[in-house]
Amino acid sequence: ESVINRIAAGEVVQRPANGLKELIENSIDAKSTNIQIIVNAGGLKLLQIQDNGHGINRDDLAIVCERFTTSKLATFEDLSKISTYGFRGEALSSLSHVSYITITTRTMDTQCAYRAKYRDGKLAGDNPSPKPCAGNIGTIISVEDLFYNMPLRRKALTNPTEEFHRISDVVTKYSIHNDSLAFSLKKSGSTTLEVNSPSSATQRDRIRSFYGAAIERELLDVEDSCSDLEIKFNGVITNPNFSGKKLTFILFINNRLVDCNTLKHAIENLYAQYIPKHTHPFIYLSLSLLPQNVDVNIHPTKHEVRFLHEEAIVSYIERAVDKVLLTANT
Ligand code: ADP
Ligand code: MG
Repeated sequence: ESVINRIAAGEVVQRPANGLKELIENSIDAKSTNIQIIVNAGGLKLLQIQDNGHGINRDDLAIVCERFTTSKLATFEDLSKISTYGFRGEALSSLSHVSYITITTRTMDTQCAYRAKYRDGKLAGDNPSPKPCAGNIGTIISVEDLFYNMPLRRKALTNPTEEFHRISDVVTKYSIHNDSLAFSLKKSGSTTLEVNSPSSATQRDRIRSFYGAAIERELLDVEDSCSDLEIKFNGVITNPNFSGKKLTFILFINNRLVDCNTLKHAIENLYAQYIPKHTHPFIYLSLSLLPQNVDVNIHPTKHEVRFLHEEAIVSYIERAVDKVLLTANT
């Protein structure tokens, strides 16, 4: 049974960066305003996230790593209108089957924090009850030795630098999208912050510091909504005269970082009409759809999102973006 669980868990958590994405979403769901991440060896040795959210009750610590344990669904009907990131109750469980997890957490109602260690979905050790310890309100989750029990997977992830790059990309994008929250990322043992977004840094500050002043200077705002399609969106896009070194396309749908190739290609084609040669715009779009119209049931490994009325929505966004590009060029 544990082998089957491990294989299933390895499907959910494919590499450090997508494990981290789930952990960041949990921290945001817990209403954190400050999220600090420390990694060692591209997250393969250590992936640690500290937040100042509402914490986990001591009594829930025994079960948080069990499969389908989620505090985010009250009834089955809720499945169709999930507005928070998580709903599957699978992230912590999966991580606990392919790494060593330690959770230190404190809620508002207690004077001390509690620490618990996990193995294969359950509290680990001979005397597994959570131990009281010092700690601030919020949660620290450490994921150590990812894929220690999946030697082939571990071997395939040969490049910690590449894994770190992917982690930094995820943190950067969540920090641009959640510009009222503070984010930081550093390598363990280092004092240098690889990502540093204090809460005072605006979205444009963040884009400038990650992607450069040349891009930030060229940004145009887009914002639109359509009651027929029940969508709203906003974002920033570079002026079509500008071309960066490569395309950056950042898309959040209902606050979740996703891929949508149809939308990406539609917008690329728009830019191509302004400058026929290859242009490489920077695009950040945040789209709100009715939760029941978005397929939240996508498997974590399928990054490509599905939603109802996709064709109509894509062409609507295309037109709204084109209007902005046109205005900027007259
Ligand atoms: P889901 O997010 O789908 O509910 P997870 O496996 O990601 O499932 O998390 C399980 C549960 O653990 C969450 O529902 C939440 O109650 C709790 N939890 C996880 N991370 C945190 C955190 N950083 N702060 C507070 N609670 C958390
Ligand atoms: Mg979650």
